[in-house]
Amino acid sequence: MHILVTGGAGFIGSHLSRALLDRGDSVAVLDNMSTGRFENIESLVDRPDFSFAIDDLNNALVLDRLASQADAIVHLAAAVGVKLVVEQPTETIETNVLGTHAVLDAARRYRCRTLIASTSEVYGKGVRIPFSEDDDLLLGPSSRSRWSYAVSKLLDEFLGLAAHREFGLPVTVTRFFNTVGPVQTGRYGMVVPRFVRQALRGDPLTVYGDGEQSRCFCHVQDTVRALLCLLDRPDETAGQVYNIGSTEEISINQLAEQVIRRTGSESVVIHVPYSEAYAPGFEDMRRRVPDTRKLHAAIGWRPTHTLDDILRDVVAYEQGRMDRPSYA
Ligand code: UDP
Repeated sequence: MHILVTGGAGFIGSHLSRALLDRGDSVAVLDNMSTGRFENIESLVDRPDFSFAIDDLNNALVLDRLASQADAIVHLAAAVGVKLVVEQPTETIETNVLGTHAVLDAARRYRCRTLIASTSEVYGKGVRIPFSEDDDLLLGPSSRSRWSYAVSKLLDEFLGLAAHREFGLPVTVTRFFNTVGPVQTGRYGMVVPRFVRQALRGDPLTVYGDGEQSRCFCHVQDTVRALLCLLDRPDETAGQVYNIGSTEEISINQLAEQVIRRTGSESVVIHVPYSEAYAPGFEDMRRRVPDTRKLHAAIGWRPTHTLDDILRDVVAYEQGRMDRPSYA
């Protein structure tokens, strides 16, 4: 198959592109490099079945050409990370909603199998743990800009499901829960790469709030495996929404301790108030645990990596980066 991966130079996109090539698919990446990085795909550019375009999704001509050549589109391009989202809400909303609209428009013209990436953020302040796909959603007010991310991704989901219902387009929506692994940058606030870098440098680990908020971290290789399976099963999974995530829950305080143990670091842990960590408009989620039974029933998927596996891989990657002369 020939797959168009939007956001393919990003963290999940670059891992997915490599996995697709490894199994014999050809891949075209479209990325505007806003948060994607060339070094993520550098090792792919010489592969004969790989091509790469730097452009925005709103360049209709480019998107049309790439879609016309594709059997399937995996739409990962989006505003990334809570930090950026709170600081640049207008760009977040426009990138997510207009970008997905453009992708679905192109997909409809060429009848492409389409995966739309969404996020566990859409569960918002839900308290019924674990979160399952048909739960009611409880979001914060529009005066708090964090929620613009959830709402924009939710609109993406509606657009994708509507394209399936109205036009029979084989669209599947995936909600990612804290996907982590090598290559992810801490620049946009993501806690695992941030803690690992802080620990390796001997800097204090910055736990925000009281640190009793919890998350489930999923290895990017598990996430990619789920995407590959879903891609191959349009008949069973089109028109559906699936959670993709680990169910191994850990508080951010415990995560900090585990990172310190894993790295053998002498770093200390400090608690930083949210008001110092984020721009105004931030509001955190206390717990976030996915119910993955629907995904398991559809494709037999379960995560195979523990948090310790994740930390091993992230530490090795970050150590490798720090050892390179170009490291800053
Ligand atoms: N966090 C933290 N210190 C950091 C970065 C993040 O304590 O340096 C916290 C953040 O407030 C949240 C959790 O770690 O409670 C996960 O943050 P991340 O941005 O990785 O993902 P989120 O679940 O918020 O999308």
